[in-house]
Amino acid sequence: MYRVVILGAGFGGMTVFHHIVPWAKKEQVQLTVIDERETFLLKPSLPEVAMGEKGIQDVTFAVRPVIEAHGTFLCSRVQRIDPEDKSVVLEDGTKIFYDTLVLALGAQKDFRAIPGFSDFGHSVCTDVLAPRLFQALEEFSGGDLVIGSAPMTQGTRTPDVPFLKAACEGPVGEIAFMVDAYLQRRGLREKSRIHCFSPADVFFEDVGDKVHEAFGEFTEQHQIGIETKKIIDHLEADKVVFADGTEIPSALSILIPAYRGPEVVAESHLGDEAGFAPTDEQFRHLDYPDIYAIGDGASRTVPKLGHLAVEQGALVASLLHRELTGRGAIHDFDPEIFCIMNMGNHRAMLIRSNTLYGGNMDIAYYGAVSSFMKKAFDDYLLHLKGKMPPDIAQRLLNVYLQRLA
Ligand SMILES: Cc1cc2nc3c(=O)[nH]c(=O)nc-3n(C[C@H](O)[C@H](O)[C@H](O)COP(=O)(O)OP(=O)(O)OC[C@H]3O[C@@H](n4cnc5c(N)ncnc54)[C@H](O)[C@@H]3O)c2cc1C
Repeated sequence: MYRVVILGAGFGGMTVFHHIVPWAKKEQVQLTVIDERETFLLKPSLPEVAMGEKGIQDVTFAVRPVIEAHGTFLCSRVQRIDPEDKSVVLEDGTKIFYDTLVLALGAQKDFRAIPGFSDFGHSVCTDVLAPRLFQALEEFSGGDLVIGSAPMTQGTRTPDVPFLKAACEGPVGEIAFMVDAYLQRRGLREKSRIHCFSPADVFFEDVGDKVHEAFGEFTEQHQIGIETKKIIDHLEADKVVFADGTEIPSALSILIPAYRGPEVVAESHLGDEAGFAPTDEQFRHLDYPDIYAIGDGASRTVPKLGHLAVEQGALVASLLHRELTGRGAIHDFDPEIFCIMNMGNHRAMLIRSNTLYGGNMDIAYYGAVSSFMKKAFDDYLLHLKGKMPPDIAQRLLNVYLQRLA
């Protein structure tokens, strides 16, 4: 049997798994997935948890039965990866050997790098922090709310990858609009000010002018203030303080922290200076060809988006199929920013752009249809346990979006 071991059952890991399953048995592939969580967490729905619209149980599903229908699932923290020995070591000391290893461990969110966060900060990034933010919002009685990102760090081993100052600003915009809708519902909007800040020169630095224009119009309409080139220094009880000495008053500070590569990747000396696994354009580790790295934990994933993790997962599965059988098409990986930003009140903005990678697609589509698509996508993914909508859905969407462009 050929041993494929996938570390991480998130967007990237589940995609690789689902794409290998149809041919694994025939080609004698033994699939093992390792994750420290028993559940898949749909992070793009955490803002809805933070607004009290959903509970954690609505944005998770158990991965064990899904994996065990076709392979082995091990629920454990991965402590070490030994690429010379071709093994990974689990927390109880068990060694799991691989022929091909897929790193899909996501990124570490470095909350500790923001002094004052543990006392005064909130976030939507985890299944612990999102419900806690909802509690804080319920106790909020008006005042200043500040939402922003800490700067991102990237290593230097893949210099052709675009350099961004923020890892992923979609959740910042999303929370701002959703908080706006939430405060209106509670009759507190008049008594509150919403401020967003970005470490970048322009908010949403990873998209083009058309999206900036649309986003700018909506932030103005919704009276959401935007400040750019702001590097957070620390948080205090009543303000956010920046490295340039300026500050914004804040009764509630909601932050997306800096992203770093997964701890185990850095500790196993498989990461670049920022801990992200460096790979070639086909997501093969630069130093170890039998290791692939995809998703938020890979140096080539910029920005840190689930859509990119999924597309990379499909590519890696197709490469493995070709490698093991000599047959099959290689999945076309064309990077693009594709996300649907929930704006509350059953409205959303669909953003699709590839200008960051040299393309000329740059679409922002606002309305109830975008909101419906987000709901349909989330429901599909949860119902089909981490499977993405079929290619035909993507092709229909392409036709629809081309009409809008
Ligand atoms: C609030 C929020 C909103 C977002 N909205 C969008 C959106 O609208 N669209 C979009 O495309 N993207 C969005 N994203 C980004 C998206 O969620 C991530 O890009 C995506 O989850 C990355 O997938 P991944 O497979 O790399 O990692 P993850 O999904 O993070 O999965 C990694 C897995 O590895 C496991 N793991 C980590 N370390 C270990 C270890 N040492 N041992 C064992 N297991 C381990 C974790 O438990 C986890 O299950 C959002 C992110 C956030 C935080």
